[in-house]
Amino acid sequence: MNLSEHFTQAELTLSETAARRGIDNTPDAFILANLKTLAGELEKVRALVGRPINVTSGYRSPALNKAIGGAANSAHMQGLAADINVNGYTPRQLAIKIRDSGLMFDQLILEYDNWVHFGLSLGAPHRELLTIRNGTGYMKGIV
Ligand SMILES: [Zn+2]
Repeated sequence: MNLSEHFTQAELTLSETAARRGIDNTPDAFILANLKTLAGELEKVRALVGRPINVTSGYRSPALNKAIGGAANSAHMQGLAADINVNGYTPRQLAIKIRDSGLMFDQLILEYDNWVHFGLSLGAPHRELLTIRNGTGYMKGIV
């Protein structure tokens, strides 16, 4: 099912870990509505970079989030976050491109120089910028 022009429910809920461990990662109606909101914002990122967005992790059911060691309050569990990459951009370049745009988000995190976490919230968006690398903990800004 398409959530927006370019994003499907399948790609925003796909998880190798869930498949391998038999974890149910089916979104309920509330999560699905959030995933549609997320897809709408990802369309804006797609338009910004002019290329398709590769989603490596979207919705995570509580069981899946626990299995992969995600943060206990992860926006992924609400269907409001996606870990993304774009061909032709390093994750850092992608994060800077989003940071320097007018796009709204709750959290933008450059994670381990491997992917960009793009997170929304149902409340006022904080537009918080963070970077984490092995051994650093969360650092303010895209650094
Ligand atoms: Zn994430």
